Amino acid sequence: MTTPRLYDTEAVVLRKTDLGEADSVLTMYTPYLGKIRAVAKGVRRPKSKMGGHVEQLVHSQMLLARSKGLDIVSQSQAIESFLPLRDNLRLTSSALYVVELVDRFTAEGEENYPLFRLLVDTLNWLCRARHGDLILRCFELHLLEYLGYRPELQHCVICRSAIEPGSNYFSPDSGGVLCPRCRGGGLIAHPLSLNALKVLRFLQRNTYAEAERLRVFPEVSLELKLLMRKYIRYLLEREVKSADWLDRLDKEGYP
Ligand SMILES: [Zn+2]
Repeated sequence: MTTPRLYDTEAVVLRKTDLGEADSVLTMYTPYLGKIRAVAKGVRRPKSKMGGHVEQLVHSQMLLARSKGLDIVSQSQAIESFLPLRDNLRLTSSALYVVELVDRFTAEGEENYPLFRLLVDTLNWLCRARHGDLILRCFELHLLEYLGYRPELQHCVICRSAIEPGSNYFSPDSGGVLCPRCRGGGLIAHPLSLNALKVLRFLQRNTYAEAERLRVFPEVSLELKLLMRKYIRYLLEREVKSADWLDRLDKEGYP
């Protein structure tokens, strides 16, 4: 039996890079094929019919043709364009952060259906955003879980004793919480407030639909952002570019 030349898949466009005069290479995340790359021919020409269906952040139905090099996008029809994400700088930056993390944390061709669902759900939540930061924290925790980096929040990662309310710490290199007795010993440990720990535990167990009603104080929100940033930086061994944009908006007090 020969492999069919054409195949179709849903896909969210994570990244789009120029190729030659008018083509683009799309990096996409799909439900059953994981991350894939394909060429969209002629899409940078003003009259391209495919243009709006293959933009970054668009969720589309794609028909692809196998090719010796990268596969070719043969047809594309947008399922959801997430238009509100394009109207507001903070939402755009948040959505770019989400797709950058999916791109950086995944290798091509590894199926991860829960991660695809999380990606689509997160872009939808951001469109109706009331608490963008909380959506991003919820996204990060579930992303890490689906990729095998679930932070341990119930027991000390060193001595395994149950974490009690009090002065606890988070250790990026051991992937979880340290009790006060196990702090030190050469591990980098960041103080973790009780409120921040409670929010992390809640987000880890629930989707954003349940978390939406949480009230999080601004100082806790900041603590969570910095903590997750450190853990993600440790795992990726690099900075996340789009996080700088979000920081800049925070610094300038952009709503
Ligand atoms: Zn301990």
